[in-house]
Amino acid sequence: MPSDLVIVYHRQPYEEVEENGKIVFKENKSPNGIVPTLKSFFGRVDKGAWVAWKLSSTPAEPDFERVVEIEDSFGKYSVSRLPLTEAQVKSFYHVTSKEAFWPILHSFKEKYDYDPVDWPTFREVNWAFAEAAANEAAQGAVVWVHDYNLWLVPGYLRKLRPDLRISFFHHTPFPSADMFNVLPWRREIVESLLAADVVGFHIPRYAANFVGVAESLFTVETGPREDVNPDFVKEHVALSERRVAQQITYQGHKVQVQASPVGVDVDYIEGKASADETQAKAREIREEIGEGAMILSVGRTDYTKGGTDQLMSFERVLDENPHLHGKVRLMHVSVSANRNMTVYEGIQNEIEATVGRINGRFGTFDWTPVTLISRAIPFDDLVAYYRATDVAWITPLADGMNLVAKEFAACRTDNRGALVLSEFAGAAVEMGSAILANPFSHKSMDRALLQALDMSEAEQEDRMKHMRETIRKYDIKAWAEDQMAGFSGEDGPL
Ligand code: UDP
Repeated sequence: MPSDLVIVYHRQPYEEVEENGKIVFKENKSPNGIVPTLKSFFGRVDKGAWVAWKLSSTPAEPDFERVVEIEDSFGKYSVSRLPLTEAQVKSFYHVTSKEAFWPILHSFKEKYDYDPVDWPTFREVNWAFAEAAANEAAQGAVVWVHDYNLWLVPGYLRKLRPDLRISFFHHTPFPSADMFNVLPWRREIVESLLAADVVGFHIPRYAANFVGVAESLFTVETGPREDVNPDFVKEHVALSERRVAQQITYQGHKVQVQASPVGVDVDYIEGKASADETQAKAREIREEIGEGAMILSVGRTDYTKGGTDQLMSFERVLDENPHLHGKVRLMHVSVSANRNMTVYEGIQNEIEATVGRINGRFGTFDWTPVTLISRAIPFDDLVAYYRATDVAWITPLADGMNLVAKEFAACRTDNRGALVLSEFAGAAVEMGSAILANPFSHKSMDRALLQALDMSEAEQEDRMKHMRETIRKYDIKAWAEDQMAGFSGEDGPL
């Protein structure tokens, strides 16, 4: 039976586990993240489908199950799995997407690597995703495609199935034309995106940049420019944008350009935060910290997250404030990426060396200034750390959104704790009540941390209340509803 809603997302929407020698499909253990929200839309249609890739030893593995039928708490839906070989995944995902697109999307021209890109493979994989989606979709169905590694899917899909309603969402930043147009495939990518009905971004600035890129590459009609939702305009945030064109017309086809920030599931996180187990764990952490203050930093080991810059700020603060020695502890969680990727290996080494130097310079038998954790912490434990910490220190150099900042605020039902947030994280346009820091300025970084350590409880409460109101208003459901509203229309299936 064809589907009224097809979600195209590189990851499968469940975990495959082996039980008694048989492969069974289990709902993801953690309901955190966007997958459950996307699946919740399956409840609104007669039939839904999901398209993802799955590793296969050869493209023509004889007993590879292409389409599986799933029944879980979200209802019944099909999952169409594309068999991709390790070489295909490396090429389309780890090389083209991560080494060429990712640095440009985050405005790191110097990290951009064109040489290893195998463009025919990128096209081939995207074509396979488009074909799979076309096979699943009913007449006039909605197809929702996710993220830059599937940039060519809307264009291919439009050719295969002109009847479909196509939406595309970027989970990263989107840069201005000066940066984006470094990509030699820029026309092919943007032409594909202009074949969608809706192109979505986290924040108005990324949407405005996309409109600028489209104008630089093609003769398009844009506009009208409309005032941005005042909830997303903050005086002192570098990423704020005030007026954005919300439509692009290219070759007679109208594309809606939307900004909807991905949020978190506030109820779920609050529930976790107030569970007895979490509270007990948080108390244990506090006992361990003793009288001193705890600073928590959480992110992936990626040059965009500015891990080394942050550690160097901590070193300067300790250098200039001897009264803090023995009184503060930084827990720096930097989840290391695939070590096979050379660019990440360098950063991991740099972070380890900087932590070693700080601990060597300032540490004593009783006091280790920085604890570095390079493994992923299970979400349940992370919640306890969010609850226990005095300061959450989140200072990426560039970040599409940053959910860690929102999770931290969602956990603080006690209205305590201070958040230092980079003004170059998309979340900053919503969370203006955080202490905003510019990670490109030593002075701003150091001052923000000191201000957070020194913040009165009354000020913590005031700021936290504001942040919590905003993240509740723009939670994960609000994001999905807003994106869907952009094109489902009155007669649409959703
Ligand atoms: N996360 C986690 N354990 C860790 C570090 C991170 O579960 O040790 C989760 C975190 O809770 C968040 C996600 O990873 O949901 C990171 O999302 P974010 O938007 O902050 O950054 P991204 O990695 O997507 O750039």
